[in-house]
Amino acid sequence: MPVRAYIGLGSNQQNPLLQIHNALIALKQIPQTELAGYSRLYRSKPIGPVDQPDFVNAVAAIDTCLDAHALLSELQSIEQQQGRVRNGVRWGPRTLDLDLLLFGDEQFNTGRLTVPHPGLLQRDFVLYPLYEIAPDLQFNSGELLAELVKEHPDDELEPLDSPEICY
Ligand code: ATP
Ligand code: CA
Ligand code: CA
Repeated sequence: MPVRAYIGLGSNQQNPLLQIHNALIALKQIPQTELAGYSRLYRSKPIGPVDQPDFVNAVAAIDTCLDAHALLSELQSIEQQQGRVRNGVRWGPRTLDLDLLLFGDEQFNTGRLTVPHPGLLQRDFVLYPLYEIAPDLQFNSGELLAELVKEHPDDELEPLDSPEICY
């Protein structure tokens, strides 16, 4: 049976809108995986170093028969294909960042991969788009995403009017 996973997408380099658009198309092409849905695109302020352009973010839902580590490898190869340079700057500028937010209701930390993603509950640019595509989502802890969103300020998070594109 496929597992429902959620992917956080982010970009602030080399035409972020196009980067996110291309990444959604690339997600569709991951083997043994279906793109089940995706949020609107949002503009957000950078976390970490502030001297960099705003980000464009979105969240996608996929149904996959890959295991979580194989999925992470696919995500990292899409980042590479879209020109991601890992220069050691934490939360620095990037053409594309794909984070594995949730993998079914699994919870683990293998060093290479932590699921759920550690930033998930703290980041408005993840919580709001996730809520848009999974309004009934409940975390392992029993917490409802809807409650978290209500409590979490959307600091300068701005949904972008993007034309309806069907990926
Ligand atoms: P953050 O993870 O806080 O959003 P980041 O996205 O900038 O920061 P990266 O440089 O993209 O961090 O990734 C660093 C490492 O995080 C990757 O090499 C990967 O092995 C590891 N990692 C651990 N858990 C996850 C996850 N759930 N999704 C993606 N990468 C993860
Ligand atoms: Ca990230
Ligand atoms: Ca990442």
